[in-house]
Amino acid sequence: MASRLASKASRSSTRAGVSISCSCMPGSAGGGCIATLLKMRQTAPMSSSDPEVVIIGAGAAGIAAARALRSQGRSCLVLEGGPRVGGRAHSCATLGSPLDHGATWLHAADRNPLTRFATAAKNHDEVRERHVRVGERWAEPAELAAISAAEERFDAALEAARAGPDRAVSEVAPRGGPWDATVTHWLCTQIQAREAEYLSAHDQFDNGLEGPNLLLPGGIGALVAELARDLPIRLNARVTGIDWSGPGVVVRGEFGTVRAQRAIVTVSTGVLAAGGIRFTPALPPAYQQAIHGLPMALLTKFAFRCASSLGGRMGIEPFHTVRRAPQPGHEPPMGFIMWPFGRDHLFGFVGGEAAWALSRQPPAETLRVARAELEGMLGPMPLGQALVTDWGTDPLFLGSYSQALPGMAGARAVLREPLGALRFAGEATSLGLAGTIGGAWAEGEAAVA
Ligand SMILES: Cc1cc2nc3c(=O)[nH]c(=O)nc-3n(C[C@H](O)[C@H](O)[C@H](O)COP(=O)(O)OP(=O)(O)OC[C@H]3O[C@@H](n4cnc5c(N)ncnc54)[C@H](O)[C@@H]3O)c2cc1C
Repeated sequence: MASRLASKASRSSTRAGVSISCSCMPGSAGGGCIATLLKMRQTAPMSSSDPEVVIIGAGAAGIAAARALRSQGRSCLVLEGGPRVGGRAHSCATLGSPLDHGATWLHAADRNPLTRFATAAKNHDEVRERHVRVGERWAEPAELAAISAAEERFDAALEAARAGPDRAVSEVAPRGGPWDATVTHWLCTQIQAREAEYLSAHDQFDNGLEGPNLLLPGGIGALVAELARDLPIRLNARVTGIDWSGPGVVVRGEFGTVRAQRAIVTVSTGVLAAGGIRFTPALPPAYQQAIHGLPMALLTKFAFRCASSLGGRMGIEPFHTVRRAPQPGHEPPMGFIMWPFGRDHLFGFVGGEAAWALSRQPPAETLRVARAELEGMLGPMPLGQALVTDWGTDPLFLGSYSQALPGMAGARAVLREPLGALRFAGEATSLGLAGTIGGAWAEGEAAVA
């Protein structure tokens, strides 16, 4: 860590990517000095209409940053590549009532910066009951208690592993117990959207999410969109290049050119790793390593309409969850949340490699597999209109949220260090709420400091 910071500090003396030796003393006129002329050319044309800060991306981090700047009376412009605000927070009413395509719960609500904006939220922990299918039957209460105990052992193993070198979760998680594979599948492949082999144990512990877990009746996407109201946001303005060779930044795309004193870059590590934005000069190796050490996991969400008037409740109460314990030789299980807020729909998730494999097929295939999984547990259901998300192939995201690879738990701290006129912010730079909308919001606010 120390050596990474040192290399970053020395990097700033050659920011133009050209090494220039110059005998000009600070404060000297230096009119004929090549370095001074070069610097003037790089910085010069800031006009009064240029914002102080340009923000790349109108997701939670970008919106939080813009609001913080506005509250300080500072100017900014948000450039959003897509046709809407919110990024990975997006609510729709396609199935007749609000449904989030991305962020769904406000996790760790007691320390989540978005909780203060949430109204009529439901603490899912208070109303959630598990229904777990074990082979051809439902788990007994004693088995559900054994699963909870196995989850506690999993958490304790992560905590104990924090004292040693950073390894894969698969290496430190309990194994061999009757519910260990089930718990590892749920907590890693499903919730973290990545298999335990590819997850840093330190990062998982550092970003452990306790309750309360709040569901919002209007949707988190709708809340974030409301919080973006009246901010200076330009939609359909996809940034393709950022020149940070001068004291300020020059940001380019098909929309034209924007100059500013600073840039806050909030796009996902998936977009950064894919070279979606060309940096001039290239980012220092430590930042590139950090980006590649925080690859995107994939969680695909799907939902089905299922009208109660058609007998669609299947004996399951609103907010309850239904899922299957994994079995060798079977497809990895998906998880389902039934009738949120008593509505006529249910939604579910598939994460990890199964999600990536399905993302390469037409959406109908995800729905076919999900329907088969659901009806395999509950029997035939009167399922109606459906939707499935596509975060994995959308070039504005390329995944759902970042996960540190084993050994890369320090990557978030590297990426969030200011770099000249650049600053990266978003869920990937959070130290404590990584992967979450609350983490993204807090990082956006922190980036303006
Ligand atoms: C299916 C799913 C379920 C989730 N569930 C939860 C949950 O329950 N709870 C939770 O807390 N979190 C959840 N998350 C994660 C949460 O949504 C994200 O962590 C958070 O929204 C990320 O915000 P951000 O501002 O960091 O990034 P983003 O939301 O990705 O914002 C970045 C913005 O940059 C834009 N952009 C990309 N490239 C460019 C470019 N070149 N030029 C200009 N703009 C560009 C994008 O369009 C986007 O709007 C979930 C995510 C998904 C996908």
